[in-house]
Amino acid sequence: MILLNKFIATVLPFFPRFLVRPFAKPYVAGESLTEAIEKVKILNQQGYVVTMDILGEHVSDKTEAVAVKDSYLELLQTIKLAEITGTVSFKLTHLGLELDQELALKNTMEIVRTARDLAIPVTIDMENSPYTDITIEIYQQARAEFNKVGLVLQAYLFRSVDDIKVLDSTDFRVRICKGIYRESPEIAIQDRIEINDSFTSMTHSLLKGEGFAEIATHDRGLLDDLESWIEQNSIPKDRFEFQVLHGVPMGKRLERLLEKGYAVRIYVPFGNAWFDYSVRRLKENPNMAGYIISNLFKRWVSN
Ligand SMILES: Cc1cc2nc3c(=O)[nH]c(=O)nc-3n(C[C@H](O)[C@H](O)[C@H](O)COP(=O)(O)OP(=O)(O)OC[C@H]3O[C@@H](n4cnc5c(N)ncnc54)[C@H](O)[C@@H]3O)c2cc1C
Repeated sequence: MILLNKFIATVLPFFPRFLVRPFAKPYVAGESLTEAIEKVKILNQQGYVVTMDILGEHVSDKTEAVAVKDSYLELLQTIKLAEITGTVSFKLTHLGLELDQELALKNTMEIVRTARDLAIPVTIDMENSPYTDITIEIYQQARAEFNKVGLVLQAYLFRSVDDIKVLDSTDFRVRICKGIYRESPEIAIQDRIEINDSFTSMTHSLLKGEGFAEIATHDRGLLDDLESWIEQNSIPKDRFEFQVLHGVPMGKRLERLLEKGYAVRIYVPFGNAWFDYSVRRLKENPNMAGYIISNLFKRWVSN
């Protein structure tokens, strides 16, 4: 079964979109903003906070980068109007970083100023290592405009343990995640246990320091360890939150975190560019292919 799931996850990128759509469904909150807003309203009612992301990265021309920026401005206005308890996450290559750094900075600043005026925090997602330095630079400029701009640091990069110490301050909000891109052994830890150790020491360092930790993982062992440490060290609840990706099965874990009074934020991606995103998620956990096929089969049998 494991091999079959792996096989499906590997060949899925070559399937037509209509066949991939059922696999994408759990991860993506819809293609339109209206659909996504309806989903996040429900999550808010269930007690979760959210961060909304328009799917996509690496735009191919500048007009597209400006259009993405405009979509983010629309998203911010909609979040305000719909009274969503949430933030917004975006990627700099989606705003044109690969084509023109000045344009990406300009787009970012426009989003950040609008977010500041509407009092909606934003997070700049972290992409692969060629963009780490520039992302941190743009983040610093953006945070000078609005102190509710957050950054992401990836535990698999050797540099992150130092980055988190250097950047720490009372205004520092950082999502700590393992890191999703393939990076070389020269700059990144390859061993999964060592990545967890790095994640743990980054979180401890921040929580012993001044910043706000956004603990973004589905790894239940890691969550157990961090939760115990937080409790043993009486870390106040306003110093951290837990974050997960929409659609990743977590059993009753998230409800239990809410019951303890912890903030849990769901990362909710939406938009037309769902294909690549879902394929990437499915490769991370090929067993999802098995669950989805059996669910589809059950639905088909019951119809
Ligand atoms: C809120 C959030 C934001 C993120 N932002 C970024 C970012 O800006 N930059 C970046 O590089 N990475 C980002 N990531 C991705 C992250 O770096 C990891 O690649 C991803 O979260 C998987 O790592 P894990 O910590 O869940 O641990 P893993 O050890 O990979 O997974 C733990 C368990 O969770 C389950 N699981 C994990 N992923 C999936 C999945 N897709 N589907 C089903 N089950 C799954 C599996 O059962 C697995 O055994 C983000 C993750 C989260 C939760």
